This record gives sequence, C-alpha cells and structure tokens, in this order.
Amino acid sequence: MRVKNLLTVDEIAMSFMSNLKGRQKSRVSTIEECLSCGQKTKRAFQSGDFVYKAGGECTKCKGKTKIVMIYGEKVEEK
Ligand SMILES: [Zn+2]
Repeated sequence: MRVKNLLTVDEIAMSFMSNLKGRQKSRVSTIEECLSCGQKTKRAFQSGDFVYKAGGECTKCKGKTKIVMIYGEKVEEK
C-alpha cells in the first residue's frame, strides 16, 4: 500500500481538529494489524489512537490487533 501524505501525530491532531471545525476537508485513517494472522484492517481515526496501541478484535481470527499506522489524506472539495 502506498501512502501519499505521512503526517506526524501533531499534524494529524491539527487536521482532525480543523476538520471538526469544517474549515479544511481531510480524512484520517488508522490501520490495525492482527498479531496472529497479520490481517490489516483500515478504519476511521478515533481520538486517542496512537501507533502500537492495542486495537480491536481481528475480524478474521478473533486475535488481538495493534495499530501499526495512522495517516491523513486531504480530501479535495468538488
Ligand atoms: Zn487475525
């Protein structure tokens, strides 16, 4: 998977906040990886997420997951 805009946690927090204010359109995603089977799951970033934090249950094998990547994408308005 290729990610265009890698951001620091601060930049993610900033873009997330400005997104809430509706000034800038951006989307932050979190990738969780299963420790048992390696399946990666993408979901929307939630407040308090950070890399290496324990994630949710694996949808495939019910194993434990951890967050391996958090990234932001600018969303172009049409
Ligand atoms: Zn799994």
